[in-house]
Amino acid sequence: MGTLVCFHAHPDDECIGTGGTIARASSEGHRVVLVVATNGDHGEIPADMSPDDTLVSLRHKETLASAETLGVHRVVFLGYEDSGMTGWEQNQNVGAFCNASLDEAARKLADVLVEENADVLTTYDWHGGYGHPDHIMVHKVGHRAAELFPKVRVLEGTMNRDQMRRGLQAARDAGMLPPDREGFDPDGPMDDGNPMGSLESEINLKVDVVAYAAKKRAAMKCHASQLGDSSFFLSMDEDRFAQQFGFEWFIDPKSDAPLRDGWIFE
Ligand SMILES: [Zn+2]
Repeated sequence: MGTLVCFHAHPDDECIGTGGTIARASSEGHRVVLVVATNGDHGEIPADMSPDDTLVSLRHKETLASAETLGVHRVVFLGYEDSGMTGWEQNQNVGAFCNASLDEAARKLADVLVEENADVLTTYDWHGGYGHPDHIMVHKVGHRAAELFPKVRVLEGTMNRDQMRRGLQAARDAGMLPPDREGFDPDGPMDDGNPMGSLESEINLKVDVVAYAAKKRAAMKCHASQLGDSSFFLSMDEDRFAQQFGFEWFIDPKSDAPLRDGWIFE
Protein backbone atom coordinates (compact mmCIF):
# COMPACT_ATOMS: atom_id res chain seq x y z
CA MET A 1 0.00 0.00 0.00
CA GLY A 2 1.15 3.53 -0.70
CA THR A 3 0.87 6.96 0.84
CA LEU A 4 -0.74 9.84 -1.00
CA VAL A 5 -0.23 13.46 0.08
CA CYS A 6 -2.63 15.94 -1.51
CA PHE A 7 -1.50 19.55 -1.28
CA HIS A 8 -4.22 22.15 -1.71
CA ALA A 9 -4.57 25.92 -1.50
CA HIS A 10 -7.87 26.44 0.32
CA PRO A 11 -10.43 24.55 2.34
CA ASP A 12 -12.80 23.00 -0.28
CA ASP A 13 -10.17 22.63 -3.03
CA GLU A 14 -9.48 19.09 -1.80
CA CYS A 15 -12.88 17.76 -2.80
CA ILE A 16 -13.33 19.71 -6.03
CA GLY A 17 -9.95 18.78 -7.50
CA THR A 18 -9.01 15.45 -5.97
CA GLY A 19 -11.98 14.27 -3.90
CA GLY A 20 -12.54 11.18 -6.01
CA THR A 21 -8.86 10.25 -6.04
CA ILE A 22 -8.65 10.65 -2.25
CA ALA A 23 -11.77 8.55 -1.69
CA ARG A 24 -10.58 5.85 -4.08
CA ALA A 25 -7.06 5.71 -2.61
CA SER A 26 -8.41 5.50 0.93
CA SER A 27 -10.97 2.84 0.14
CA GLU A 28 -8.30 0.77 -1.61
CA GLY A 29 -6.28 0.79 1.61
CA HIS A 30 -3.74 3.53 0.91
CA ARG A 31 -2.87 6.17 3.49
CA VAL A 32 -4.03 9.67 2.53
CA VAL A 33 -2.77 12.93 4.02
CA LEU A 34 -4.31 16.30 3.18
CA VAL A 35 -2.17 19.43 3.47
CA VAL A 36 -4.04 22.74 3.20
CA ALA A 37 -1.88 25.82 2.65
CA THR A 38 -4.25 28.62 3.66
CA ASN A 39 -7.07 29.19 6.09
CA GLY A 40 -9.43 30.44 3.37
CA ASP A 41 -9.75 33.71 5.28
CA HIS A 42 -11.33 35.61 2.40
CA GLY A 43 -14.15 33.26 1.48
CA GLU A 44 -17.81 34.12 1.82
CA ILE A 45 -19.08 34.65 5.36
CA PRO A 46 -22.39 32.82 5.70
CA ALA A 47 -25.29 34.79 7.16
CA ASP A 48 -26.04 31.98 9.63
CA MET A 49 -22.50 31.63 11.02
CA SER A 50 -22.49 30.99 14.77
CA PRO A 51 -21.11 33.87 16.89
CA ASP A 52 -18.73 31.28 18.39
CA ASP A 53 -17.09 30.79 15.00
CA THR A 54 -14.82 32.84 12.81
CA LEU A 55 -14.71 32.12 9.10
CA VAL A 56 -11.33 30.44 9.68
CA SER A 57 -12.59 28.19 12.50
CA LEU A 58 -15.68 27.31 10.49
CA ARG A 59 -13.65 26.45 7.39
CA HIS A 60 -11.30 24.29 9.46
CA LYS A 61 -14.30 22.34 10.77
CA GLU A 62 -15.76 22.01 7.29
CA THR A 63 -12.42 20.72 6.01
CA LEU A 64 -12.18 18.12 8.76
CA ALA A 65 -15.72 16.94 7.96
CA SER A 66 -14.92 16.77 4.24
CA ALA A 67 -11.69 14.90 4.97
CA GLU A 68 -13.53 12.39 7.13
CA THR A 69 -16.12 11.87 4.40
CA LEU A 70 -13.36 11.16 1.88
CA GLY A 71 -11.40 8.85 4.19
CA VAL A 72 -8.39 11.12 4.79
CA HIS A 73 -6.19 9.83 7.61
CA ARG A 74 -4.46 13.07 8.59
CA VAL A 75 -5.08 16.76 7.89
CA VAL A 76 -2.31 19.36 8.18
CA PHE A 77 -3.08 23.08 7.99
CA LEU A 78 -0.01 25.15 7.11
CA GLY A 79 -1.90 28.20 8.39
CA TYR A 80 -1.05 30.79 5.75
CA GLU A 81 -3.44 33.65 5.03
CA ASP A 82 -5.54 33.37 1.91
CA SER A 83 -4.17 35.80 -0.73
CA GLY A 84 -7.57 36.55 -2.26
CA MET A 85 -8.24 36.48 -5.98
CA THR A 86 -5.88 38.12 -8.49
CA GLY A 87 -5.89 41.89 -8.08
CA TRP A 88 -7.48 41.98 -4.61
CA GLU A 89 -5.73 44.24 -2.12
CA GLN A 90 -5.16 41.18 0.11
CA ASN A 91 -2.54 40.09 -2.47
CA GLN A 92 -0.24 42.60 -0.74
CA ASN A 93 -0.66 41.24 2.82
CA VAL A 94 2.59 40.17 4.41
CA GLY A 95 1.07 36.93 5.72
CA ALA A 96 -0.58 36.04 2.41
CA PHE A 97 0.51 32.67 1.07
CA CYS A 98 1.53 34.15 -2.27
CA ASN A 99 4.10 36.30 -0.43
CA ALA A 100 5.47 33.49 1.72
CA SER A 101 9.05 32.33 1.47
CA LEU A 102 9.06 29.53 -1.09
CA ASP A 103 11.78 27.67 0.78
CA GLU A 104 10.06 27.99 4.14
CA ALA A 105 6.70 26.78 2.82
CA ALA A 106 8.38 23.96 0.90
CA ARG A 107 10.23 22.88 4.05
CA LYS A 108 6.91 22.60 5.92
CA LEU A 109 5.42 20.45 3.18
CA ALA A 110 8.60 18.41 2.81
CA ASP A 111 8.53 17.68 6.55
CA VAL A 112 5.15 16.01 6.01
CA LEU A 113 6.47 14.10 2.99
CA VAL A 114 9.37 12.80 5.09
CA GLU A 115 7.23 11.94 8.13
CA GLU A 116 4.78 10.07 5.94
CA ASN A 117 7.37 8.56 3.61
CA ALA A 118 5.05 9.73 0.84
CA ASP A 119 4.85 7.92 -2.50
CA VAL A 120 2.70 10.40 -4.44
CA LEU A 121 2.26 14.15 -4.00
CA THR A 122 -0.48 16.03 -5.85
CA THR A 123 -0.05 19.73 -6.54
CA TYR A 124 -1.46 22.00 -9.29
CA ASP A 125 -0.51 22.83 -12.86
CA TRP A 126 1.73 25.85 -13.59
CA HIS A 127 -1.10 28.41 -13.49
CA GLY A 128 -2.99 26.77 -10.66
CA GLY A 129 -5.84 25.86 -13.00
CA TYR A 130 -7.29 29.35 -13.18
CA GLY A 131 -4.60 31.79 -12.09
CA HIS A 132 -5.46 32.19 -8.40
CA PRO A 133 -2.27 33.42 -6.66
CA ASP A 134 -2.53 30.76 -3.93
CA HIS A 135 -2.99 28.00 -6.48
CA ILE A 136 0.07 29.13 -8.43
CA MET A 137 1.96 29.10 -5.13
CA VAL A 138 0.79 25.53 -4.47
CA HIS A 139 2.35 24.54 -7.80
CA LYS A 140 5.68 26.17 -6.90
CA VAL A 141 5.79 24.96 -3.30
CA GLY A 142 4.78 21.44 -4.31
CA HIS A 143 7.63 21.15 -6.76
CA ARG A 144 10.17 22.70 -4.39
CA ALA A 145 9.11 20.32 -1.60
CA ALA A 146 9.50 17.36 -3.96
CA GLU A 147 13.08 18.45 -4.61
CA LEU A 148 13.67 18.08 -0.87
CA PHE A 149 12.15 14.57 -0.91
CA PRO A 150 12.98 13.30 -4.40
CA LYS A 151 11.53 9.85 -3.82
CA VAL A 152 8.00 11.22 -4.15
CA ARG A 153 6.20 11.16 -7.48
CA VAL A 154 4.61 14.52 -8.30
CA LEU A 155 1.32 14.75 -10.15
CA GLU A 156 -0.23 18.10 -11.06
CA GLY A 157 -3.99 18.19 -10.72
CA THR A 158 -5.66 20.17 -13.47
CA MET A 159 -9.03 20.68 -15.16
CA ASN A 160 -9.61 19.19 -18.58
CA ARG A 161 -10.60 22.22 -20.63
CA ASP A 162 -11.78 20.11 -23.58
CA GLN A 163 -14.08 18.06 -21.37
CA MET A 164 -15.31 21.21 -19.64
CA ARG A 165 -16.20 22.79 -22.98
CA ARG A 166 -18.05 19.64 -24.06
CA GLY A 167 -19.88 19.39 -20.72
CA LEU A 168 -21.04 23.01 -20.88
CA GLN A 169 -22.29 22.51 -24.42
CA ALA A 170 -24.12 19.33 -23.46
CA ALA A 171 -25.76 21.11 -20.52
CA ARG A 172 -26.70 24.03 -22.78
CA ASP A 173 -28.16 21.65 -25.40
CA ALA A 174 -30.21 19.95 -22.67
CA GLY A 175 -31.44 23.32 -21.41
CA MET A 176 -29.82 22.57 -18.05
CA LEU A 177 -27.04 25.13 -17.93
CA PRO A 178 -27.37 27.08 -14.67
CA PRO A 179 -27.85 30.82 -15.36
CA ASP A 180 -24.64 31.67 -13.48
CA ARG A 181 -22.66 29.55 -15.97
CA GLU A 182 -24.17 31.08 -19.12
CA GLY A 183 -21.33 33.53 -19.69
CA PHE A 184 -18.56 31.13 -18.63
CA ASP A 185 -16.09 30.19 -21.35
CA PRO A 186 -13.26 27.84 -20.31
CA ASP A 187 -11.31 28.96 -23.40
CA GLY A 188 -11.58 32.61 -22.44
CA PRO A 189 -9.07 34.40 -20.24
CA MET A 190 -9.26 33.75 -16.50
CA ASP A 191 -7.98 36.30 -13.97
CA ASP A 192 -4.38 35.79 -15.02
CA GLY A 193 -5.14 36.01 -18.76
CA ASN A 194 -4.80 32.27 -19.39
CA PRO A 195 -7.65 29.91 -20.25
CA MET A 196 -8.95 27.37 -17.72
CA GLY A 197 -6.98 24.23 -16.83
CA SER A 198 -5.22 22.27 -19.53
CA LEU A 199 -5.96 20.80 -22.93
CA GLU A 200 -6.30 17.03 -23.18
CA SER A 201 -3.12 17.06 -25.24
CA GLU A 202 -1.28 18.44 -22.19
CA ILE A 203 -2.71 15.94 -19.67
CA ASN A 204 -1.14 12.52 -19.04
CA LEU A 205 -3.47 10.74 -16.63
CA LYS A 206 -7.24 10.31 -16.50
CA VAL A 207 -8.38 8.76 -13.23
CA ASP A 208 -11.79 7.10 -13.10
CA VAL A 209 -13.56 7.99 -9.87
CA VAL A 210 -17.14 7.58 -11.06
CA ALA A 211 -17.73 5.07 -8.25
CA TYR A 212 -16.68 7.75 -5.74
CA ALA A 213 -18.66 10.65 -7.23
CA ALA A 214 -21.30 10.45 -4.50
CA LYS A 215 -18.61 10.67 -1.81
CA LYS A 216 -17.02 13.59 -3.61
CA ARG A 217 -20.37 15.34 -3.72
CA ALA A 218 -20.97 14.60 -0.04
CA ALA A 219 -17.57 16.11 0.78
CA MET A 220 -18.44 19.25 -1.17
CA LYS A 221 -21.62 19.52 0.90
CA CYS A 222 -19.45 19.67 4.03
CA HIS A 223 -18.22 23.05 2.77
CA ALA A 224 -21.67 24.58 3.13
CA SER A 225 -20.29 28.05 3.89
CA GLN A 226 -18.83 28.24 0.38
CA LEU A 227 -20.71 25.70 -1.73
CA GLY A 228 -24.45 26.04 -1.23
CA ASP A 229 -27.00 23.67 -2.73
CA SER A 230 -27.57 26.21 -5.49
CA SER A 231 -23.88 26.32 -6.43
CA PHE A 232 -22.77 25.13 -9.84
CA PHE A 233 -21.41 21.89 -8.35
CA LEU A 234 -24.29 20.90 -6.13
CA SER A 235 -27.21 22.03 -8.28
CA MET A 236 -26.48 19.24 -10.81
CA ASP A 237 -28.37 16.00 -10.52
CA GLU A 238 -26.29 12.98 -9.47
CA ASP A 239 -25.87 11.55 -12.97
CA ARG A 240 -24.67 14.81 -14.46
CA PHE A 241 -22.39 15.38 -11.50
CA ALA A 242 -20.83 11.95 -12.03
CA GLN A 243 -20.34 12.69 -15.74
CA GLN A 244 -18.71 16.04 -15.01
CA PHE A 245 -16.72 15.15 -11.89
CA GLY A 246 -16.32 11.38 -12.16
CA PHE A 247 -12.90 11.76 -13.74
CA GLU A 248 -9.88 13.58 -12.35
CA TRP A 249 -7.01 14.79 -14.46
CA PHE A 250 -3.30 14.90 -13.76
CA ILE A 251 -0.20 16.08 -15.55
CA ASP A 252 2.90 13.98 -14.92
CA PRO A 253 5.66 16.55 -15.33
CA LYS A 254 8.20 13.79 -16.00
CA SER A 255 6.20 12.25 -18.84
CA ASP A 256 5.57 13.25 -22.41
CA ALA A 257 3.26 10.30 -23.02
CA PRO A 258 -0.22 11.02 -24.34
CA LEU A 259 -3.31 10.92 -22.13
CA ARG A 260 -4.04 7.47 -20.73
CA ASP A 261 -6.61 5.95 -18.41
CA GLY A 262 -4.82 4.92 -15.25
CA TRP A 263 -4.29 5.27 -11.55
CA ILE A 264 -1.94 7.36 -9.46
CA PHE A 265 -0.17 4.36 -7.92
CA GLU A 266 0.70 2.79 -11.29
ZN1 LIG B 1 -8.69 27.42 -3.99
